[in-house]
Amino acid sequence: MDDDISNESESTNNSKEFYNNAIKYWNEIPATLDGMLGGFGFISNTDINGSQKFLKSLFKIKNPPAKTYALDCGSGIGRITKELLIKHFKYVDLVEQNSKFLDTAKNLLSDYSTRIGQYYPQGLQDFNPVSKKYDIIWCQWVLGHLEDNDLIQFFIKCINALSDNGILIVKENITTSDTIEVDSKDSSVTRSYENIKSIFKSAGLICIKEQKQLHLPRGLYPVYMFALRSAEIPIES
Ligand code: SAH
Repeated sequence: MDDDISNESESTNNSKEFYNNAIKYWNEIPATLDGMLGGFGFISNTDINGSQKFLKSLFKIKNPPAKTYALDCGSGIGRITKELLIKHFKYVDLVEQNSKFLDTAKNLLSDYSTRIGQYYPQGLQDFNPVSKKYDIIWCQWVLGHLEDNDLIQFFIKCINALSDNGILIVKENITTSDTIEVDSKDSSVTRSYENIKSIFKSAGLICIKEQKQLHLPRGLYPVYMFALRSAEIPIES
């Protein structure tokens, strides 16, 4: 009994440390493209082109998402909103825990100010999107900062925040091994393909389409895009 309590508080402390260390890491990172992409700002166009093709293919499925509201999760300086989401959706909201990055996003997106709804300065582990329903929720290069339990809860909240025919997109690095790799520098994990799939399952998600990002430089993790819906919605052929 005593052991259980001490284990529990130990894991709570570890969890706090995991999140606090990520906050500290990102506080030291410049609010630039290179900062967002770990020195690989030059891959942004390739990344966006791949995302654009994937998104367009989703608009062609039988029950496609509408093009009204998108949510950019872990938006950083708003790279994905500016280069992708605002071109396809009428309105975009952003959620990002670093307020310096959000300030830069506001500047970079000033031409679209009437079409940016909300800037939420929050960690995804604490975020609950309840104020509207989104047609697309886009999560990229941020979910490794969430612990498994928080990620499952976050996914469940996302699914509840999707409009009819809405889709949750996950675009993340995936390990080439079967193991989860920990990066203590930025306080994140890189999950394996099997692991992320089992987290989708635990959150009640099914993957309706997936694709590997092509043309990335050698030496980087493979990057996968997953389009997800609630497993409770029947898939029509
Ligand atoms: N998705 C953006 C930014 C990637 S950089 C893009 O692809 O351009 C990773 C971002 O995740 C940083 O802006 C960092 O501040 C943010 N982040 C890290 N942990 C987070 C958390 N727990 N909740 C929300 N955002 C987080």
